[in-house]
Amino acid sequence: MPCARSSTRCSPRRTSRRRSACSTPCCSAPASPRTSRSTTHPLHVHYFAPGSSVAEHLAADCGVALAHVLVENERDRLRTCAAPDCSHVFVDESRNRSRVYCDSRTCGNRMHVAAYRARRRDAS
Ligand SMILES: [Zn+2]
Repeated sequence: MPCARSSTRCSPRRTSRRRSACSTPCCSAPASPRTSRSTTHPLHVHYFAPGSSVAEHLAADCGVALAHVLVENERDRLRTCAAPDCSHVFVDESRNRSRVYCDSRTCGNRMHVAAYRARRRDAS
């Protein structure tokens, strides 16, 4: 499968000779793009090859997703959670690019509660 980064630089035939030309994980993971639909998920694309291990599945899907972020010049959407006790990384898919926590229900809620308690403590 050609890499999303550049079909001329990362075609499977050239990749074996020029592996250093592309450093995205999708170039080393076996991939076979195909559509899928289930009762719980609408039509979507899988990039891992049938029979792939979980590691190959993750490498292919994450590699393609990362390649799209890089190709579409969306690097500023790659973030590290702003909670001091969390090091999760995430892709900010918010419309106004304002997401700062990996998960609003966990880190976001914990930090907002801490800020609220600090404001109340300062006020008293
Ligand atoms: Zn977090």
